[in-house]
Amino acid sequence: MRFDIVTLYPDILRPFFSQGVLWGAQEKGLIAVHLHDLRVFSPDPRGIVDDRPFGGGAGMVMCPEPFFRAVDALSRELGRRPYVILLSAQGVLFDQELAKELARKGAVALLCGRYEGVDERVAELADLELSIGDYVLAGGELAAGVVVEATARMVPGVVGRYASAATDSFYAGPVLGYPQYTRPRDFRGLRVPEVLVSGDHARIRRWRLREAWRKTLRHRPDLLGLKLKARTAEDPENTGKSHG
Ligand code: SAM
Repeated sequence: MRFDIVTLYPDILRPFFSQGVLWGAQEKGLIAVHLHDLRVFSPDPRGIVDDRPFGGGAGMVMCPEPFFRAVDALSRELGRRPYVILLSAQGVLFDQELAKELARKGAVALLCGRYEGVDERVAELADLELSIGDYVLAGGELAAGVVVEATARMVPGVVGRYASAATDSFYAGPVLGYPQYTRPRDFRGLRVPEVLVSGDHARIRRWRLREAWRKTLRHRPDLLGLKLKARTAEDPENTGKSHG
């Protein structure tokens, strides 16, 4: 699977893709990640890619042409048009189901905005306008990193023996993953639930299922179609801490 990221700041993402599971996946030839400097596609000899907004207002808007030229160049290189994603706070919300779908696309190009955002005509170029959450970032680079990492984990072989995507939150539906523990069994008085060291695998399976639902109900009742209780970070009811 190939990912092409078009950005004003490719260096932000270079270290991110040079470590961990994503680096391993590239080494094994399971994925390829290419970072492209948007300025290279500017028709302006100085590499300018933004301009003032029509109608006035603060800040600068990114021009459409460099993005269109980037997608044209990628299509020529690939011999077909990649699936084009515009990262945008106004896009549809990214989730695990979308990650699975994207992993079947073969080639995905991600376009990152900066400043006040991109000229609306770039949305016409994109197959999908995608947001990673209801908040505004300064640029699309971290969002692209999130989308690539979650999607790459759905490419067969990327997640190896140290992790299993199938037991992750959201993988098999709207349920969070079950709580995990490792050694020591007693850490500062916080004990690992007895069932996990019982050796009774049927009981362990039942416990994990129950705890996964319990955690989902506590943290994300919205996933189960229930109304979410107003939460604050300070609310001890909602810290999710349970060591019982
Ligand atoms: N004026 C824009 C708005 O109201 O939606 C925000 C522009 S933001 C400062 C600059 C760029 O960051 C966007 O063009 C987009 O590429 C990226 N971005 C910001 N928040 C994002 C989010 N939640 N998901 C994906 N990309 C985001």
